Amino acid sequence: MSNPSIGFIGLGTMGEPMATRLAQAGFDLTVSDLNDAAVERLVALGAKRAASPADVAARSEIVFASLPTPDVVQKVVLGEQGIAIGGKVRVFVDLSTTGPRTAKLVAAALGDMDIVAVDCPVSGGAAGAQEGTLALMVSCPTLVYNELLPILSNLGRVIFCGHAPGLGQTMKLVNNLVSVTALAVSSEALVMGVKAGLDPKVMLDVFNAGSGRNSATADKLPRAVLPRTFDFGFSTALSLKDTRLCLDEAEAMGVPMPVGSAVRQVLNMTRAAFGDNADFTRMVCLIEQWAGVEVPASPKKMPEKPANKGHEHEQ
Ligand code: NAD
Repeated sequence: MSNPSIGFIGLGTMGEPMATRLAQAGFDLTVSDLNDAAVERLVALGAKRAASPADVAARSEIVFASLPTPDVVQKVVLGEQGIAIGGKVRVFVDLSTTGPRTAKLVAAALGDMDIVAVDCPVSGGAAGAQEGTLALMVSCPTLVYNELLPILSNLGRVIFCGHAPGLGQTMKLVNNLVSVTALAVSSEALVMGVKAGLDPKVMLDVFNAGSGRNSATADKLPRAVLPRTFDFGFSTALSLKDTRLCLDEAEAMGVPMPVGSAVRQVLNMTRAAFGDNADFTRMVCLIEQWAGVEVPASPKKMPEKPANKGHEHEQ
């Protein structure tokens, strides 16, 4: 059976490297983004340019999206010139982090038009998207999963989370809550240790050899905080969106999250101090300000990858 035609909407930090991998794997690809420069780079790799999401849907059997927020996804799918206008599209795969409510809403609306909606949020950051080592959290019917597997395998490790719309998104929200909570508490610990006179590199060595090891100590702090570049590649606004989506969902389900709520406030304060686009690793600077001490700069150290998978410790 020949490969299906593929559409890709949203060529940002995550979408562009994912679409690039699909283009390089030889798929028949049609792309769309508000940013023309990103579209141009894909066209240079052989992709076709579409005029709108509706145009992508008119030309592609399977349409992927990697978009910033639930509102944008709803607009791109259900708005004027949206994917729901249809044509060729049979399957819509949302790679964005949009939460289970949007996944269910989009699945219901597209279901009425015989288009299957697939949850497929990803974890692994920009580096994972470039290297094809993302974790992909998929929920959809089995037949569609089987069709998507050879395509998604170009992007990383595909993990089936269930059949119902929203399950992949719920998995992603709780994953990111765990990840950002590890960053917040590890940042507090780092600043305290530095104020007490510990060397931050020694602290990371001990954490990573011991029970304090987590995705921040193994990756985010050595990559973006110790060198003081604050360029891990995940904005405070996006992290706050993910945390908000998670806490709203938990509250609606009757699951109290006092620790998650505190982390949400740390992100709110980081955004107030440094702006939406500041990397979320900037949160360490807040704690430094309160503590009156700065973690001394040391050369960038790229983390070692775990032997089994490259995405484990990324956003
Ligand atoms: P981004 O802001 O870098 O990219 C979003 C892209 O969507 C941009 O190129 C933008 O021009 C485009 N876009 C916005 N509105 C559009 C529209 N109406 N039509 C077409 N294109 C439109 O965001 P990102 O960091 O690539 O994240 C994308 C999604 O992936 C988000 O939901 C995010 O939460 C999630 N995510 C991000 C990371 C990360 O590390 N950056 C990791 C995992 C998941």
